[in-house]
Amino acid sequence: MQETYYDFSAFELLKDKKPLLVCDDAFDSFNIKLPCEVIRFSDFTPNPVYEDIQSGVDVLKKNGCDFIVAIGGGSSIDTAKGIKFFHQTDLPVMAVPTTSGTGSEATHFAAIYKNGEKRSISDEKLLPEYVVLRADMLKTLPIYQKKCTMLDALCQAIESWWSKKATKKSIIYSKTAIALIVANMESYLKNDDDGNEKMLYASHIAGKAINITTTTAPHAMSYKLTALYGLPHGHAVAICLPKVWRQTKNYNNIADALGKKNHKDAVLFFEEMLLKLDILPPQNAKADDVDLLTDSVDPQRLSNHPVPLDRDTIKKMYREILGV
Ligand SMILES: [Zn+2]
Repeated sequence: MQETYYDFSAFELLKDKKPLLVCDDAFDSFNIKLPCEVIRFSDFTPNPVYEDIQSGVDVLKKNGCDFIVAIGGGSSIDTAKGIKFFHQTDLPVMAVPTTSGTGSEATHFAAIYKNGEKRSISDEKLLPEYVVLRADMLKTLPIYQKKCTMLDALCQAIESWWSKKATKKSIIYSKTAIALIVANMESYLKNDDDGNEKMLYASHIAGKAINITTTTAPHAMSYKLTALYGLPHGHAVAICLPKVWRQTKNYNNIADALGKKNHKDAVLFFEEMLLKLDILPPQNAKADDVDLLTDSVDPQRLSNHPVPLDRDTIKKMYREILGV
């Protein structure tokens, strides 16, 4: 079970503890005081790699930490989960997301990279025990990062809805998240407090949706785009989704949640939105990359997609995505 707080009172739980604080440099701008001695671990990259996580495990062990606190975006929270997973410990995790996107604070899995390949670790115990949702943490985010994380949340809500593993409950989460994202996109991008608050909540709910269903083809196709061209996760997923939806067809109910008549209109809406947000394909892509990208797609993740997508279709989609 997870406890969600909308203020910092959760930090009271840390009194007399010695937590490993997993955070990146942005942490220093938040002026957060924890009521205890902390061991800080910031030695990891965005899209964390296995070696970073191993050094986090070493720091935790060496210092005898008895709690794990992650304050940051998806990379910080996934690193914290990775440390718990590879240390094989039952230490509680407190997640304080500072972006509204990955929903990592609401899932029991994490993405890590090993030898340039994305791996997923998954265990019921990885669902953080405590979550703090504070919208003022979003205030200082660069606008491009805000766009990418919002798009990740939107794609997660859509993919979860059409996932083969969707349930009544997960669809309610998807629907709620999509409605909140569409209604609050403008005010969030203007950095209004109310927009930030709604978007943080929407991304948390989208996280709850994928916690039940996991993701589908757009996510499966995105990881190599991130590895190859350095695109942030939300950017990479968002450029895949409309091309995949065009192949998948149907799901007019999702289109309806986006305020569109049918899936064709929804795909056009999505593509126009990306143009408006200036979320474009990588400029350094080459036609030769298409085979490498196609080989990278994890068939198991693809099996969660509602329609079969064969190799030729995936190749065709990559060509469309990259414009090569
Ligand atoms: Zn994602």
